[in-house]
Amino acid sequence: MVSVDVRSVSKAWGDTLAVNDVSFAVNEGELVVLLGPSGCGKSTMLRLIAGLDEPTAGAIAIEGRDVRGLTGAARGVAMVFQSYALFPHLTVADNITFGLSVRGIARAQMAQRLEKIAGLLGLEALLKRKPAQLSGGQQQRVALGRALIAEAPVCLLDEPLSNLDAQLRQDLRREIRALQQRLSITMIYVTHDQTEAMSMADRVILMRGGRIEQNGRPADLYECPASLFTARFIGGAPMNFLDLDDGPHGAVIAGTTGPALFTASGRGRVLGLRPEDVTVDSVSGRSRLHATVTAVEYLGAEALVTCMLGERALLARTRGDSAPPVGAAVGLVWDAAAGHLFDATSGRRLSETGAGSLSPQLHTVSNQGSIRA
Ligand code: ADP
Ligand code: MG
Repeated sequence: MVSVDVRSVSKAWGDTLAVNDVSFAVNEGELVVLLGPSGCGKSTMLRLIAGLDEPTAGAIAIEGRDVRGLTGAARGVAMVFQSYALFPHLTVADNITFGLSVRGIARAQMAQRLEKIAGLLGLEALLKRKPAQLSGGQQQRVALGRALIAEAPVCLLDEPLSNLDAQLRQDLRREIRALQQRLSITMIYVTHDQTEAMSMADRVILMRGGRIEQNGRPADLYECPASLFTARFIGGAPMNFLDLDDGPHGAVIAGTTGPALFTASGRGRVLGLRPEDVTVDSVSGRSRLHATVTAVEYLGAEALVTCMLGERALLARTRGDSAPPVGAAVGLVWDAAAGHLFDATSGRRLSETGAGSLSPQLHTVSNQGSIRA
């Protein structure tokens, strides 16, 4: 069942359209991440759902009800902000139950809910402390507790972990996800961090300049980016982009005379290749695409290897223990299906559109297909 329904919503601040004709739905019990660079309209969208601002155009329904003009509590939403915004003079317990006492919930029921939430978040031993006596991670847990105790049908989180260090962020994002699944909370989670989005979300909505760039499962965005923007934004190491041109035997890397990468036209197209899909082979191996290693970034289990194809740098990911040395001459190979083809002008993906047959025709330069099983 649809829990939050956003229909053609726009929000203008003066001349700026912070949110521009955005539509999406969030199902009950689903964790949807609004992802995108700073300034793309994520917080504005969340505040519109929370009832902190009203849309300039469009409508928002929660649990089937148009919520225009209703407060957050009346809409059935609770929100967690990036700044914990705890009351410094109140104890942890009072901070968590503040919203309930304002709403006149009975003491016994309040105590019961507090016990449950404190247990879920591991805050039992800290209930009598003041916020100043807590670490950043503990303060963020209190802020989360304050939102969860409301037992609102929808929980909204705006970059709740960005003030924390990397290890704590990783721990807490797992905790939030586990809690969300255990309690079947409908959650909309805002972040600019693609790792956070990909690792937590049932669905990711990638935003750009107030619009939705792509809405899909994390694997959809990774495996089938609809545009150069998505391709660039999603993925651990950045995707390689090679401008193509027409050579005598098919598409070639622009500025080179070959070898041909595939038989169709390359002009005006960009080939995207993830570093993890590029295999570094020996020069005598199966590739006619030769390069020189100019840098190796060793990361333990893996290494990021920069290979120069003439003037162009191509990043390849290898096992940490099998990275070639700097200066090595290598051959580069990739699986036919690993290539992503985009229109250079519009930035849109080509391989699944009218030019449908292009993707299967992408092949390794040696015509030997994939070297991966
Ligand atoms: P994000 O959360 O993705 O970083 P925001 O939603 O905060 O982006 O901002 C989107 C755009 O709207 C930005 O250009 C920002 O400057 C503008 N904006 C946000 N809030 C306000 C406001 N209260 N008044 C004027 N402009 C705003
Ligand atoms: Mg923001």
